[in-house]
Amino acid sequence: MPQTILVTGAAGFLGSHLCDVLLAEGNTVVGVDDLSTGNLANLAHLDSESRFKLIQHDICTPFDPGPVDFVFNFASPASPVDYARLGVETLRVGSAGTLNTLEIARKNNAGYLHASTSECYGDPEIHPQVETYWGHVNPIGPRSVYDEAKRFSEAAVMAYHRYHNVNTHLVRIFNTYGPRLQANDGRVISNLMMQALRGEALTIYGDGSQTRSFCFVSDLIDGIVRLSKSSETLPVNIGNPVEWTILECAKEVLALTGSKAEIVFKPLPQDDPTRRRPDITRARTLLGWEPKIALREGLERSLEYFRACVA
Ligand code: UDP
Repeated sequence: MPQTILVTGAAGFLGSHLCDVLLAEGNTVVGVDDLSTGNLANLAHLDSESRFKLIQHDICTPFDPGPVDFVFNFASPASPVDYARLGVETLRVGSAGTLNTLEIARKNNAGYLHASTSECYGDPEIHPQVETYWGHVNPIGPRSVYDEAKRFSEAAVMAYHRYHNVNTHLVRIFNTYGPRLQANDGRVISNLMMQALRGEALTIYGDGSQTRSFCFVSDLIDGIVRLSKSSETLPVNIGNPVEWTILECAKEVLALTGSKAEIVFKPLPQDDPTRRRPDITRARTLLGWEPKIALREGLERSLEYFRACVA
């Protein structure tokens, strides 16, 4: 049955794709975004959609979206460059913002899904990362504003489940890319694609041997929507388990774009995780989910978007 669904961070990369899928299912969506890192262009195609409305608001201040059946909490700066710039805001949205949206779910007897992150694992000592791993996080380093905000959010979500019986879900999201990824957010896929398309040198931080596992956005949203409909309350990793070194990833971008740009090596940022790969056994068994789109195909599907960003 169609529902009325609140999506915070609706103008962001993941939030906007989530809104599209929820609307396509026939639901009514109330989006909230303060546009600190979100982009109205991500929602421009919904201008004449009568089942969608956007409230421009910072969720750190309590608000009433009207009656809702479900809350997806996706509001937060998410790229290392953005959360370094907006450190205190990131801590606030992952604490006060999360508590405010949990209150909305409690008052409405609504379901709740929080966008958590592989950063909860920090620079992981076990590989691949399973949900039962508690993580290896520097609580005072440059990434701590994001990592600890997300870890606090997980504690808050579990508390609302335990003490207020809210039907909550936690997704731990691994690196994701696709159209609408901010072209200038400093992330590896956006940087490499933009650099290759501009014919500029591709920047690799460190020696490029650190790894990430890249999930195409449509696969990720599919997993998240499945989780929201499940009865699972403990964290579930959603990500693509195929692991790439950053250097391999740069070569893939060069091969795809046909760019002859050179690769330059820059200093590795502090606390940059050396490896990251999700164990998706839980997503497979609980949700019947696994990603379908390999990196090359996902980059191909993103090419037109990044080309438009360059123009
Ligand atoms: N990175 C890089 N060149 C860039 C941007 C990022 O080599 O132009 C590296 C970064 O140091 C990290 C990985 O790519 O090891 C992924 O970085 P990103 O900012 O995309 O997100 P993270 O996974 O670190 O949160």
